[in-house]
Amino acid sequence: MNDSVRFRVTSGTRVKLSGIDPAFKGRHADHASAADELQHYTERLRALQELLYADGRHSLLICLQAMDTGGKDGVINHVLGAMNPQGCRVAHFRRPSPEEAAHDFLWRAHRDAPARGEVVIFNRSHYEDVLVVRVHKLVSRAVWTERYARINEFERALAADGVAILKFYLHISSAEQLARFKARLQDPSKHWKITTSDYAERNFWRQYRRAYEDALSRCSTEYAPWYAIPSNHKWFRNLAIARIVVERLEAMNLKYPAPAVDLAQIRRKYHTAARR
Ligand code: AMP
Ligand code: MG
Repeated sequence: MNDSVRFRVTSGTRVKLSGIDPAFKGRHADHASAADELQHYTERLRALQELLYADGRHSLLICLQAMDTGGKDGVINHVLGAMNPQGCRVAHFRRPSPEEAAHDFLWRAHRDAPARGEVVIFNRSHYEDVLVVRVHKLVSRAVWTERYARINEFERALAADGVAILKFYLHISSAEQLARFKARLQDPSKHWKITTSDYAERNFWRQYRRAYEDALSRCSTEYAPWYAIPSNHKWFRNLAIARIVVERLEAMNLKYPAPAVDLAQIRRKYHTAARR
């Protein structure tokens, strides 16, 4: 079974995250044995992204969601960093600014949606409005419960307009998160990332789990599927995501546009031996 199928949350089914092993690593034993395959997919990714840009009819939106240390930054660096920065952009969803908060919750997601030919990565996304917002009761239950349907409508509208949408939940265990926090503490170059709320949020692990299960179960659709990616092993996570993105781009049947000029005439006029 390929990764695009294996990790995809089937539309209309209920996800149980406890049933997905965050330490799964498939057929490779370790990072070294997966390296060639990862390189293959990241090279394909670069070529396909250029084709998406040249083709200019479609765009790609990738949403990354995870608990802290889940690896959103790592995926952006290692996988999506392989793409040409011209035609690729990251939008980071933080606590809404006053301007953002004054609008409906989907406004900022729509504002940052990709233009034709473009790849946009959402580092966090409009799903925060049914995750952190739900867990911390920043709005009433009545408000967040109707958001799943609103999100589906929004994503359907984007998809109908030529936006391919892939959503990745980076699945790590609570023990792995604690180990990564500890590693941060031991690495001075990571100290800037540490906040006290990181640790406080661990008290809400179960609530986040439930909120993630609802988001993945209610909003994995044919047009905007969710993938639950085992992410305790960073190399496995990167490989699985690179493959799924490549397979999605390949399925788009992208084409270079027809040349805007008469090539035969140009060859004749400027490149025949007699003229050189
Ligand atoms: P980071 O991505 O680590 O820089 O953190 C961004 C923070 O903003 C996280 O704690 C998110 O949960 C928080 N955040 C993102 N979107 C929202 C939102 N709609 N409402 C409240 N907090 C949010
Ligand atoms: Mg953070």
